[in-house]
Amino acid sequence: MRLIWRRIPPDNFNHELVWLVVSIAAAVGGGIWLSLGLPTLRCPFLAVTGYPCLTCGATRCAIAFLHGNISAAWSWNPLALLALCGVALFDVYAAIVLVTRAPRPRLIDWTQAEKNAVRVAVIVVIAVNWAYLLAHRAQY
Ligand SMILES: [Zn+2]
Repeated sequence: MRLIWRRIPPDNFNHELVWLVVSIAAAVGGGIWLSLGLPTLRCPFLAVTGYPCLTCGATRCAIAFLHGNISAAWSWNPLALLALCGVALFDVYAAIVLVTRAPRPRLIDWTQAEKNAVRVAVIVVIAVNWAYLLAHRAQY
């Protein structure tokens, strides 16, 4: 795996622009939804099994995060909080590279072992987060 910095040719997919727009649209859409007092979605997995799914608490985590209550956001869903922090950092990065037209970092030439290590790490993180949610299921 190598980290390179490169400018994006005009005909290439612009990840920074697309995902910045998608994340802002999701935040604005969610804000409008909640400000109108529309109902939040109920988790069908929780309704059927009585156990929280992998994403249970993510909406309440996002609301707490946007109100600056990080400890409440963490208690609702730690992985969702980490994802929200990652999206916020990505959005700042994307805005900077789009405005400055700076070269963009890309990880290339992944070996199969590196790909597998990332896959295992993602599965372990998701499993640990789910174990946390199951251990704290009384709050859902
Ligand atoms: Zn759920």
